[in-house]
Amino acid sequence: MSSVDIVNVHKSFGENEILKGIDMQVAQGEVVCLLGPSGSGKSTLLRCVDGLVMPDKGHVSVGGTLIGRKVHGGKLHDLSGREAAGQRERIGMVFQQFNLFPHLDVRENLVLGPRAHRLGAKAELEEKAHALLGKVGLSSRAKAYPAQLSGGQQQRVAIARALMMEPDLMLFDEPTSALDPELVGEVLDTMRSLAQDGMTMIVVTHEMAFARQVADRVVFMADGHIVEDAAPALFFDSPETERARAFLRLV
Ligand code: ADP
Ligand code: MG
Repeated sequence: MSSVDIVNVHKSFGENEILKGIDMQVAQGEVVCLLGPSGSGKSTLLRCVDGLVMPDKGHVSVGGTLIGRKVHGGKLHDLSGREAAGQRERIGMVFQQFNLFPHLDVRENLVLGPRAHRLGAKAELEEKAHALLGKVGLSSRAKAYPAQLSGGQQQRVAIARALMMEPDLMLFDEPTSALDPELVGEVLDTMRSLAQDGMTMIVVTHEMAFARQVADRVVFMADGHIVEDAAPALFFDSPETERARAFLRLV
């Protein structure tokens, strides 16, 4: 069974159809890099997977669970806000902007979500936070506030914070796009290590070297369609479409 199953997803905003029938599967433990020009619908597709956006047509399931909807009385209904939030617990999302709570230190940022969801006793969660900070190379910064950290460190904290919820799936939406160039590598290294640990990941990125090295598959989107879906070496060395060739010339 695939971990993520995206079936014929359509989404419009007003008159604009942004996703025009997207089909895509991601197997458990697979890393898919989602590439494409700005405005091609990559973020919208990730939001459909996370249940932040509901498709107009088609559906998404993660680990066999339909996202954002449930069957009740033989009919499909949208989940309530609370039910949808519950579903999102097991899906980690990392954005371009790190979105840490500025008034909380690093450890508090990590422990807050799991505490609110009653995922463990305080001491247990703090121990887990410590272990995850070690994993992202920030053991010594547990008491620092976000403003005292570099952008790369803040993004690694954001990744550790997502991992606190023990997600089955991690979604990354241009996680290094807001970083100074010299800080990009440390965040990509953290993501690479997560991939090596077997995490299922969908990564929207403009880091082509990362996509080539780490992705199991590259999915290239343009104008609301999936145009290519291939192994990285195949995609980068011999793209099938002119659309992909034009994109690769510009990156
Ligand atoms: P990408 O991430 O590939 O750059 P997006 O999914 O962010 O593309 O956006 C695709 C298009 O959808 C853009 O033209 C954007 O303006 C539009 N769009 C995205 N979200 C909304 C929204 N909530 N309301 C209206 N338009 C939106
Ligand atoms: Mg985007």
